[in-house]
Amino acid sequence: MADKEPKWALIVHGGAKEIERGDEQANRDGVRQAAEAGRRVLTDGGSAVDAVECAIRVLESLPVFNAGIGSALNAAGGIEMCAGLMDGRDRSVGAVTVIRGVRHPISVARRLLPEKEILLAGEGAFIFAREQQLELIDEGELRSDAAPAQQEHDTVGAVALDRAGHVAAGTSTGGLTGSRVGRIGDSPQPGCGLYADDRIGGVALSGDGETIARVVLASKIMNRLEVGEKPQEAITSALSELPEVGGDDADGGAIAITRDGRVGWSHNSQHFAVAYVHERMNEPGVWLAKSEDSTAP
Ligand code: ASP
Repeated sequence: MADKEPKWALIVHGGAKEIERGDEQANRDGVRQAAEAGRRVLTDGGSAVDAVECAIRVLESLPVFNAGIGSALNAAGGIEMCAGLMDGRDRSVGAVTVIRGVRHPISVARRLLPEKEILLAGEGAFIFAREQQLELIDEGELRSDAAPAQQEHDTVGAVALDRAGHVAAGTSTGGLTGSRVGRIGDSPQPGCGLYADDRIGGVALSGDGETIARVVLASKIMNRLEVGEKPQEAITSALSELPEVGGDDADGGAIAITRDGRVGWSHNSQHFAVAYVHERMNEPGVWLAKSEDSTAP
């Protein structure tokens, strides 16, 4: 990163997973499109919360990602989604879990931000979405033939810093293929799948949700950022706890931005599609695999 840190920045990811051969371009295009949309919000003077919501709505619309359209099917063949949004300005949280029949779970989470409740589940979350006149959708429309048959970890996420110095982080997921009905992973839980605090920065995760929650991984990363570790180092160190607790298959990835505009990511999954853009970049940079991460700024 150059001498002066950027005034605004945005990073998005398309999930810690193994990308099927042939799906690489769709993953690249998807995260780029989401970063472009979020960038427009920030350059137009929008807030970090606006940018995160906007970027995640793009990812939820694309069947290549396991969020919104293209969500994974659970053990009963149904779609239950989770999303979370956190505003670093006042540390408010809006999250929904085991929600069905909405097109954009992240927007339901967004509407919950000003409310007292931080997390609504199942029918309650759906009723809230309907009250808010958000877009409802038949479950059939959320299924996608274009979605990879065996979705692995594939939560989407975004973190933004706006010109006013506010940070926001968001997640959205269809969960894990074949999981028990009613299962909830890390994604809607603050301190686990996401966190944002203007005094420190923000982080969003993907990966083995049960293990991430058991080690409160977002919180661990925030603690490291707070003492001045760079985002990539903080994430890499924190991720190393996953196999200790969840075994060798417990993988994950995270993106982060600090309050002073430093951006980073790390993953121990095979792939982790990331796009990132800040004030001084003409267009988003896109990375897909570990082998490409060394070219990251
Ligand atoms: N973390 C998500 C969950 O456990 C899964 C994922 O990242 O794909 O629901």
